[in-house]
Amino acid sequence: MTNRDPYLLTPGPLTTTEATRAAMLRDWGSWDRAFNEITASVCRDLVRIAHGEDTHVCVPLQGSGTFAVEAALGTLVARDAKVLVPNNGAYCQRIGKILGRIGRGCVMLDFPEDEPVDPARIEAALRADAAITHVAMVHCETGTGVLNPLPQVAQVAERLGRALIVDSMSSFAALPIDLRALRIDALIAASGKCLEGVPGMGFIIARKSVIEAAEGNSSSLAMDLHDQWVYLQRTGQWRFTPPTHVMAALRAAIDQYLAEGGQPARLARYQDNCRVLVEGCKALGLRPFLKDEHQAPIIVTFHAPDIAGYKFATLYESARSQGFILYPGKLTQVETFRVGCIGAIDRTVILQAVEAMRNALAAMRA
Ligand SMILES: *Cc1c(COP(=O)(O)O)cnc(C)c1O
Repeated sequence: MTNRDPYLLTPGPLTTTEATRAAMLRDWGSWDRAFNEITASVCRDLVRIAHGEDTHVCVPLQGSGTFAVEAALGTLVARDAKVLVPNNGAYCQRIGKILGRIGRGCVMLDFPEDEPVDPARIEAALRADAAITHVAMVHCETGTGVLNPLPQVAQVAERLGRALIVDSMSSFAALPIDLRALRIDALIAASGKCLEGVPGMGFIIARKSVIEAAEGNSSSLAMDLHDQWVYLQRTGQWRFTPPTHVMAALRAAIDQYLAEGGQPARLARYQDNCRVLVEGCKALGLRPFLKDEHQAPIIVTFHAPDIAGYKFATLYESARSQGFILYPGKLTQVETFRVGCIGAIDRTVILQAVEAMRNALAAMRA
C-alpha cells in the first residue's frame, strides 16, 4: 500500500492540486461581497474560455453535471419543441432519458459506439423532420472516450436553422470550442472535469438572447436556469444556497489553468497523458476499444485483458493498492475498463499507473 491518496484516473471526481484543495479551507457567507466577487469572476472567465464574451452568459447551477444537463434542456427547450439526439454512447442516452422525463419531444439517431456521430446522417434526419427544433449532442462521449465532430454538426444545425445544445462536460476547457466560429446556443460543463476543480456544480454558457427568451419553459423551480440567471443579474447572488467551497476551489483551479497557458496547454498535457497511456498499455498487450483517430485525449477504453477468470474488481483492487483508481467500462456488449487522462496529473503519474497495471496483470496471470 502507498501512503498518499490514490490518483483518480477517472472522468471526475479527479485528482486536484494542493492549491485547489487549500482554497476550500475557509467559510464564505453567500451574501458576502467576497463570495459574490468569486461568482462574478468565475462566470466571466468561463465565458471567455469559450470566446463567448460578446454573445453568451454563464449560469452556474448547484449539483453534479447531470443536474446542469437536465436544467439546460428543461429551460432552453420549449415544451412543444423536439430534439434530435445523435447517439453513440451512455451520455447521449442520458440526454434522451432526461428529455423523456421532462416531457420534451426526442428523436434518438443511433450510431455505433466505437465511431463518431456522422454529420451527413444528422443532416438527413433534420431534413426529414421539420418538427425538429434542436440538436442536443455530446462533444466527448465519456462512456467510451470517442470525440464527436462538433464543428461539422454545428455547421449542419446552423445551415438548417436548428438550435444546438452541447454537453461539453468532459471537453470544456481542454478541447477548443470557439463560440465566435460555431453557432451554439448552449454549452454545458461542470467544475470537476477538465478545469480540475472539485465536483459540486455545473454551468451553462448560454446565448444571451436564448436564456432571455426562456422564461416559463422550466417546470422545475430549482432547475430553472432562466430564474437563476435573472436572480444572479439582479443580486450578484445564487438563488439558493451556493456551493461556496466548490466555487472557491474552482476560482483557484481556473487561476492555475490560466497560469498553465489555458486551453492549448491543458490539451497538450492531456494529449501527452493519453499517448503515454495508450502506448504503455499496448505494450502490456491491452487493446484500446477505439481507433486512434477517434480517441479524445480525455478517457481511454480498453478491452478486458485476455486472462482466464479476469474480473475488473481484481484489477481495480490491485491498482488501488498501488495508488491508482481505475474506472469500470460502460459498454453492454463487450467487457472493457476505462482509464482517465484528465486531472492534475502528468506523464510521470501515467507511467507509474502503467507500471501498476503491469504488476496487476502479472499477478492475475500467476
Ligand atoms: C461527467 C459527465 C456528465 C455528468 O455526469 P455527473 O455524474 O452528473 O457529473 C455528463 N456528460 C458527460 C459527457 C460527462 O462526461
